[in-house]
Amino acid sequence: MPATFQTTVQCVQCRQPFRGVVQTVIDPSQNPQAKISLLGGTLNQFPCPNCGTPNGVLTPILYHDGSKELMITYVPMELGLTRDAQEKAIGDLIREVTTQLPKNSFKAYLLQPRSALTMQGLIEQVLQADGVTPEMMEAQRERVRLVEMFIQTPPELLPGLIQQHDARIDAQFMQTMTLIIQQLLQEGRQPLAEQVAAIQNYILENSTFGEQVISQAQQQEAVVAEVAETLSNLGETAQRSDFMKLAIEYAGDEQRLQALIGLARPAFDATFFQELNAVIGKVPASSRAALEALRDHLSELTAMVDQQAQMALQEAATLLRVIASSPNPDEIIRENLGDIDYTFLQLLTANIQEATRRGDVNGSSKLKDIYNRIIAALQANMPPELQFINELLNAPTADEARQMVIQHAPSFGPSLLEAMDAVEQQLTGSGNGNPALLERLAQVRQEAVNVLG
Ligand SMILES: [Zn+2]
Repeated sequence: MPATFQTTVQCVQCRQPFRGVVQTVIDPSQNPQAKISLLGGTLNQFPCPNCGTPNGVLTPILYHDGSKELMITYVPMELGLTRDAQEKAIGDLIREVTTQLPKNSFKAYLLQPRSALTMQGLIEQVLQADGVTPEMMEAQRERVRLVEMFIQTPPELLPGLIQQHDARIDAQFMQTMTLIIQQLLQEGRQPLAEQVAAIQNYILENSTFGEQVISQAQQQEAVVAEVAETLSNLGETAQRSDFMKLAIEYAGDEQRLQALIGLARPAFDATFFQELNAVIGKVPASSRAALEALRDHLSELTAMVDQQAQMALQEAATLLRVIASSPNPDEIIRENLGDIDYTFLQLLTANIQEATRRGDVNGSSKLKDIYNRIIAALQANMPPELQFINELLNAPTADEARQMVIQHAPSFGPSLLEAMDAVEQQLTGSGNGNPALLERLAQVRQEAVNVLG
């Protein structure tokens, strides 16, 4: 029996036959998603493509987690296998796992797998190996019950229910809700998932916990803005010694240090750390330990920022591959618009440049085509006022732009002026405001004021 196999499932409800991929070996180091499905109770459950009914496929399962030296077997009693057939099925699966292992990594636990009598028993053994105690499992079941209560409550009763359970609404509760949303999406139940997401949002906006989360986020934003301001006051001629002074000033202030490294990562390079070491060598012994601790912490923070950038880059690369290989790129772009950010566009631009440099005409034109589709999708997703301003700024002549304002400004009303002001702020604030663009904006704004009175 292989680790995964394709099978034909016949829907228990509508009898429609369809294909499903059954998983028999669950190894979180190979396939973390399979463990999540197992714990969520959706492993080998296939929603019927015709009527949506979930169809479960019963199969022997081998759970293997080498990092915990854990191997558990489960043969559903409903299969009615004889003892010999059970042993053969399990033996096949164990061989499947052990032949994949690198040589010399064979350990005793592989010879004595534990067994589970029920699916629930399997799940509990896996959770226990993760350090989840029966009390924690019960607390989690309580959270799920509370989430279900929120989902089933009519909207007008939600405020009262939130008040009543305010003390139980915490980070773990929110996480449970997120897991349930993910599970619903996995089962193809999009409308219900969206409904639960809306309730989660409502709870966040109307509970004590949500209030705390929002005020913490605002405080963090304020710290980042303050550090950004300090950095911009340093100017472009700032030296490593300036950054060092700032880091020493922020020592012990985790939020400011994180903001500093996040905003000015390139300043904290190998030379910076050499210079800091030189400083540490010269200070009196009494202040040395504090500086050494700061140095180690700065080095941890730079590693963290690099890791995040690396992960963002990997995600962007995956998304780009998916778009490039899709027969319907526009659909993928629309669905993932939220993930198309600065990192993604940078990666795409770098890929276009690289393809051009290699002389790969096909590759570069395909990537340029993706770029144009993305820009079109981003523009289509903009509020209508911004789309209109964009058209105004791109109009061939100032006169044509004015005509467009006369014709269309009344249908937007005062919100057009607000949007123009926001664009102006953005253009001047980014420090690279193109003078011609700013002049055009001023002209069309004046015309809009005239038209709107
Ligand atoms: Zn069906």
